[in-house]
Amino acid sequence: MNQTDQKIITIDGPAGAGKTTLARALARRLGWRYLDTGAMYRTVALAADEANIQVSDIPGVETLLASLKMDVQLASEETRLFLGGREVTALIREPRVSALASAISALPQVRAKMVELQKRLGQQGRIVTEGRDQGTVVFPRAGLKFFLDAGPEERARRRYEEIKSRGNDADLDQVGRDMAQRDQADSTRDASPLRPAQDAVPIDSTRLSIEEVLKVMLDRVRQKGW
Ligand code: C5P
Repeated sequence: MNQTDQKIITIDGPAGAGKTTLARALARRLGWRYLDTGAMYRTVALAADEANIQVSDIPGVETLLASLKMDVQLASEETRLFLGGREVTALIREPRVSALASAISALPQVRAKMVELQKRLGQQGRIVTEGRDQGTVVFPRAGLKFFLDAGPEERARRRYEEIKSRGNDADLDQVGRDMAQRDQADSTRDASPLRPAQDAVPIDSTRLSIEEVLKVMLDRVRQKGW
């Protein structure tokens, strides 16, 4: 197998661009596994929060990482996360955890540990992985890379609908502000900032339905002969 032809599909992009929906749909169609790397950073954030460790407390974060009992279970529909055997898949979706995840994911120590784990999870290929740095840092030799984006208002609207659909209260303006702050932090940090890989296929999903984006992606998959 050619080194740049690994059976790995990466989907990077900002929050609310549709990465999760598309990565799941693609994995399901191909019968591949699906990896949500944001869920891993969210789990580290939750662990720090529960241990009362501030993001600014670097030795504290390092101690936490050294003893972190995080398990990741992959299927085509969901990435399930466990902390010390306790499932936290739903808990890590709370907006408070989103902000903490963005802050803690800027620490190189945290990234190094997560990247190592992600590389291991992707070793056998046949995986669709989504995040911010999957095509650039974690799987630079992935055979197919997408950079999925959408206008900020559309992304805020989608995230708002998602929060509401889980039965939680949300304010659209607040969701938009939180998202803009997270985008800014994710794009300007020193460690693995959010940016498209040079060889990524850019897709603007602002005016496209899920089915339309999926079609674009599947066409590319077929071109690869996968
Ligand atoms: O994708 P999701 O919104 O769940 O990610 C939560 C946070 O984790 C992001 O705001 C980002 O700061 C961080 N993240 C990251 N690298 C990834 C995936 C997520 O830094 N590969």
